[in-house]
Amino acid sequence: MRGRTPREAFERTFELLRQHHEWMERTINLIASENVTSLAVREALLTDFQHRYAEGWPGERVYAGCKYIDQVELLCIELAKELFRAEHVNVQPVSGVVANLAMYTTLTEPGDRMMCLAIPAGGHISMGKKKLGGTAGAVHGLEVENWPFDEKKMNIEVDAAIRKVREFKPKLLLFGGSVMLFPHPVKEFQEVAQEVGAYIGYDAAHVAGLIAGKQFQEPLREGADVMTCSTHKTLPGPQHGMIMCRKELAEAVNRAVFPGVVSNHHLHCVAALNVALAEMLEFGREYARQIVRNARALAEELYEGGLRVIGADLGFTSSHTILVEVVKEGGGRELEEKLEKANILVNRNLLPWDIREGRHYQNPGGIRLGVSEVTRLGMKEEEMGRVAEFILRVVRGENPGRVAADVEEFRRGFNRIHYAFDSAAEAYRYIKLR
Ligand SMILES: *Cc1c(COP(=O)(O)O)cnc(C)c1O
Repeated sequence: MRGRTPREAFERTFELLRQHHEWMERTINLIASENVTSLAVREALLTDFQHRYAEGWPGERVYAGCKYIDQVELLCIELAKELFRAEHVNVQPVSGVVANLAMYTTLTEPGDRMMCLAIPAGGHISMGKKKLGGTAGAVHGLEVENWPFDEKKMNIEVDAAIRKVREFKPKLLLFGGSVMLFPHPVKEFQEVAQEVGAYIGYDAAHVAGLIAGKQFQEPLREGADVMTCSTHKTLPGPQHGMIMCRKELAEAVNRAVFPGVVSNHHLHCVAALNVALAEMLEFGREYARQIVRNARALAEELYEGGLRVIGADLGFTSSHTILVEVVKEGGGRELEEKLEKANILVNRNLLPWDIREGRHYQNPGGIRLGVSEVTRLGMKEEEMGRVAEFILRVVRGENPGRVAADVEEFRRGFNRIHYAFDSAAEAYRYIKLR
């Protein structure tokens, strides 16, 4: 074991975990797919639920010992139905990818066609074609066609897309993605979906928290038959997934989830999701509103500072996400690495025109920034000015180590989880049980 005794490896693991926690305390995290949970969510994750199995539907389990687990899961379903105004919810998918696979199983057969965003336009690998090894193509056998994308509006080009639907006759029209600056046109496709006999799906992995907070769009009111999500991006819950649908599809969705794609469904995550959903029902509107305000404020400041923030003429963003073209700053990879040295975490991201201009995912032309986590720590528009300043100092060539020291100082004032019932300080506390 690399020269370590088992005991040393054991201790080393905890040492690394503690170091990670200490680093997070000193860091500005702008990874758009991440967030930080309340201590209440973390308490639920640490319970005995993590040791148990509960295959099947609450009340019809194929395991004994589920009387409390059943009540927690039924409560989770109730909370999710209310929050998303959904007719049916299944909280068993263990992640967003697994929820998408259940959606594909529910609505399509292998060999069917699906339309969705291309990856450089914001699509996720779980929507990917077979040749990319994506879940839709390589695992479920779908023929994937991409939505025509309007690079000026940073959105699906409706007229061309409707023509493409008529031509390809897909079985599933999938909306949503990993880069969504603006709501997707969904209701515009209701008619053509009926015409060709297609279902409408919506992958809300990134924007579920904004939808729950009523600050984005409401796909289930706009014609989506099925909506999937991760529960840990803008929705500040545990790492898990959910799938929601019209009541007519309830049975099919449940069967696709179990026995289709889960056996164990990570019961501690379900319990933790209850907590996060309750927090969202109470604080979600305020939280989501502040996220969008912060994203616009940060975009504006970076733009004023000379960065090429995408969507300047569109108000930059209506979500938690900002996209910046950084080709002349050395590309996405170089800037991501420099910012990390300054304790600012962002991720490199493909831009819709990158492939055409000869760039690829290893060193794409953009960076993606999200403000969910910093919003959760109580930062507002004013702090976005400070965050932009730190980023701009790194971009302008200042030594990242010097910026890191100022970032650390700034972060000391933001170490409490907001929009939660218990707002204990020490958001990144290392919880020691031994
Ligand atoms: C993150 C993401 C997923 C995958 O979610 P996991 O919970 O990580 O499995 C699926 N779809 C989209 C659009 C995403 O951004």
